[in-house]
Amino acid sequence: MSAPITFDNSYADLPDSFYTRQGLQPVNQPTLLKANLDLADQLGIDLAWLQSKEATQVFAGNALLPGADPLATVYAGFQFGTWNPQLGDGRALLLGEILTTTGQRFDLQLKGSGPTQYSRGGDGRSPLGPVLREYLVSEAMHALGVPTTRALAAVSTGEPVYREQPEPGGVLTRIASSHIRFGSFQYFSGQQDLPSLRRLADYTIDRHYPELGASEQPYQGLLSQVIEQVAQLIAKWQCLGFIHGVMNTDNMLITGETIDYGPCAFMDTFKQATVYSAIDQQGRYAYQNQPAIAHWNLMTLAQALLPLLHDNEDIAIEQAKAALQTFPDRFDEHYHAESAVKLGLTPSKVSRALFSEFLALLETHELDFTNSFSGLAGRLNSNTPLLATDDWLQWMANWQAALHENQDKAAARHRMERANPYVIPRNHLVEHAIQQAYREAHFDQFDALLQAVTNPFDPGHADSRFAQAPARDEIVKRTFCGT
Ligand code: AMP
Ligand code: MG
Repeated sequence: MSAPITFDNSYADLPDSFYTRQGLQPVNQPTLLKANLDLADQLGIDLAWLQSKEATQVFAGNALLPGADPLATVYAGFQFGTWNPQLGDGRALLLGEILTTTGQRFDLQLKGSGPTQYSRGGDGRSPLGPVLREYLVSEAMHALGVPTTRALAAVSTGEPVYREQPEPGGVLTRIASSHIRFGSFQYFSGQQDLPSLRRLADYTIDRHYPELGASEQPYQGLLSQVIEQVAQLIAKWQCLGFIHGVMNTDNMLITGETIDYGPCAFMDTFKQATVYSAIDQQGRYAYQNQPAIAHWNLMTLAQALLPLLHDNEDIAIEQAKAALQTFPDRFDEHYHAESAVKLGLTPSKVSRALFSEFLALLETHELDFTNSFSGLAGRLNSNTPLLATDDWLQWMANWQAALHENQDKAAARHRMERANPYVIPRNHLVEHAIQQAYREAHFDQFDALLQAVTNPFDPGHADSRFAQAPARDEIVKRTFCGT
């Protein structure tokens, strides 16, 4: 049989200052819990192999495939606004890169695979709960059309990890178009290592933004591209009620993919100030702050890139400022395009006003974000408001008037049904599924939930339990990093 995965590693060809090579740290008794057949198929990985004993050994970090070159990458980051000059893969291992037959390059990374040079006293491991959580939520995000890292496999290690109490350990195999973070640039900037900074920028352009290679100002182009990708990403988060929870610059990818599913959560009842993460006591990463935080993070990225923008620092600063100033408008444009579709409208002043009024009504009446939107398509031809209150009746009348002017309702309905999911990975469902997996080692709830969240627009789920908001006693208010 030919090799199940053909590696084509490019990050490993970068200088030693970018990473530390790292041997494997085997675990006791790995068991394959989940393997992602669809994703494996896209990556050209043999599906029979994926479920073999050898694959389990590989996904647990017990065995290496030929061509893998495991390394822990170094990066820095602003964590909750505070500069940390050196972080790095403290519990992750880049095994190598896969180049698909269509020419797409992906990182294959183990998360929870043991300590590295960058563990800073941590054990390098992950409890199984966060592994399963990331599997569910990242695959849900992909199905919702949000750029994201993905989950190829989840294994349990057969070894405990010690947190507040002993917990079963797990390893996630993560796929990403790369793991280059804002913090990767910030590390070299902090080290004042200009050659490495330039090398990383060139590598990033070559890998992700090759059209910039021939441009006169490639690094300015890079900054503008990242601003654009991030604007698109955050617009999608906002329109789905997704709260990332740890928008530190080490958790922001240069491609604008979502990464690091720690304390993230989808909102149930709509409230702008919502925060789930137990460690975010000031609410820095609250739902309503995400666009401004993204802007701030981009500002810190631009700062790191300054020496590449121009030899004259004043000119470099002017260029960075000019690029950064575009973010609010870039974000706004994407946000209003996405939000108009959610209402079945084309973007206009009217759709803008209707959308913000809709959100204000959700907040006033403490309504469920997801279900309020998915319920709208069914009201295209009726005046039945979400609640029989004067403010809702008025909103419905305004919305009907806008629809009437805008376009035919069948087209509107079709677009709404692709923008307003029935199913999101709700906290209480995710927790139930993980609890069952923990306590009973059963995956029927996990599998059923995974099936639902990876088909979020399927009207077949509209009346299912997966589409229901939590009952009062089921509401989960806090989420945890799981580190
Ligand atoms: P995160 O909160 O997952 O973004 O992690 C922030 C930093 O802490 C990264 O450098 C991680 O590699 C590191 N880290 C998180 N958990 C652990 C752990 N259990 N052992 C070692 N390093 C960790
Ligand atoms: Mg992280």
